[in-house]
Amino acid sequence: MQTLSEKLHRSSQFLVGVELVSVRGSMAGGRAQKSRTFANQLVELPGVDWVSITDNAGGNPQMAPQALAKPILYAGKEVVIHLTCKDLNRNGLESEAWQLSSDGFHNVLAMTGDYPVGGDGGTAKPVFDLDSIGLIALLDKMNKGFDDRSVKTQFCIGAVVNTYKQKEGELLPQVMKLRKKVECGASFIINQVGYDARKVHELRLLMNHDGMEQVPLIGNVFVLNSRTAVMFHERKIPGVVVTKELLDLCVRHGQSADGGEAFFHEFAAKQIAIFRGLGYRGVYLGGLHNGASIEKIMESERSFSPDDWKGFAREMRFSREGEFFLYEEDPLTGLADPAKRYPRAEPAPPGFSYRLSSWTHDIAFTPGRTLAKLGAGACAGSKDPAQGPAPLRALEHVSKRLLYHCQDCGDCSLPEIAFLCPESQCAKNQRNGPCGGTRDGRCEVDGYGDCIWLRAYERLKSEGKEEELLAHVPVLQNQGLRGTSSWANNWLGQDHTRTQQPNR
Ligand code: SF4
Repeated sequence: MQTLSEKLHRSSQFLVGVELVSVRGSMAGGRAQKSRTFANQLVELPGVDWVSITDNAGGNPQMAPQALAKPILYAGKEVVIHLTCKDLNRNGLESEAWQLSSDGFHNVLAMTGDYPVGGDGGTAKPVFDLDSIGLIALLDKMNKGFDDRSVKTQFCIGAVVNTYKQKEGELLPQVMKLRKKVECGASFIINQVGYDARKVHELRLLMNHDGMEQVPLIGNVFVLNSRTAVMFHERKIPGVVVTKELLDLCVRHGQSADGGEAFFHEFAAKQIAIFRGLGYRGVYLGGLHNGASIEKIMESERSFSPDDWKGFAREMRFSREGEFFLYEEDPLTGLADPAKRYPRAEPAPPGFSYRLSSWTHDIAFTPGRTLAKLGAGACAGSKDPAQGPAPLRALEHVSKRLLYHCQDCGDCSLPEIAFLCPESQCAKNQRNGPCGGTRDGRCEVDGYGDCIWLRAYERLKSEGKEEELLAHVPVLQNQGLRGTSSWANNWLGQDHTRTQQPNR
């Protein structure tokens, strides 16, 4: 039997994966019964190539995916385990990955994860020690042989991209992060839930043009009903958009005698046809709870003629007013025109605080410059080099607190995020690009304002440097430096930048 990796990389077969959402409770409990029944049906369905099992979906506590996954795997079906950074630190994730490998799970979908919203006795403390890039890099390192004594793991690492973004400064950093995920070891990509064929098309075009044409791209088909359409429209799931037009359509069909089932199944079948027509390697079906629905959807898709998807693509255009695209629309097809890049907005002039921060950084922290050498000498000669001389430490503490709401993490990412602090201004402390959750430019977590990565993009764009946003190697924050001087750590090559400038 072919593994998922073999199917993805050594066949041209159009693949079908199905999402199985875990439940809160044990395998023996009533809640798990439905999921177990569905899992058994998925095992029996020959058209299903893999089952994907969620990890505390939506930021709520649930049974670990392996419990549902083991019977599926042992029955001979490929399984993709979702692994997210919200509930485990890097040691927990590594430990989990060793366990998965030992149990025979070799397919992992690596994600940052939703911000926790639930927990026994109150909301759980979010972790986000790593982000999706850090997790992909960790799994890739395990695949290459973690150390001299480790057997190489065989993870087929998947990642997610969300291009259903409203603003230029949301969409382009997502694209840059996608490149980074592939560079770091992601070997297949699934796009976010969405309902716009033009965005679907431009993601395929972008990957083709950016040297990622060999990376299997899987289309996300979340089968709607009127209830989930309302939930998505109300933005209850970060990063997922259902426009008012699509909502009205779903509500209207939801009032029919079958609750809209026939309509929603055909709608999903049309989405599959579009993904197939646009050269995606397969689909990832979500929002389903029984095998019969999957069969009906697949049967409906099989009934279409080869070119029908082009008409469906014209219908499946639920974008928002003023939404940013990568390419202009081709008026003949309603899809993306690869010959015409979508116009970008004029940059705003750089702000004073950004210019000041940038100038200060250049003169004081560029390796080899006089101030950097003096700083390194002063810190190396001080009583505690990790803190540096007391007056300098006091100056750092006060100035960075006032200017950036610095949290004294000791491993500063300000220069990589256009002088915006991920500790104080990003709910998930993202150091390698935005998570997928922004809502029209704003952080998915209330109270954080505009996403720092959108702001960073705009700051860099003001100097024509926006393409440099994620040009650095992946940042793995060293938590052991917390409470020490980030200036001293930078000058003495103790922070994450030591991997960026090995000859400093
Ligand atoms: S600031 Fe941006 S990257 Fe950070 S959690 Fe919010 S949406 Fe995600």
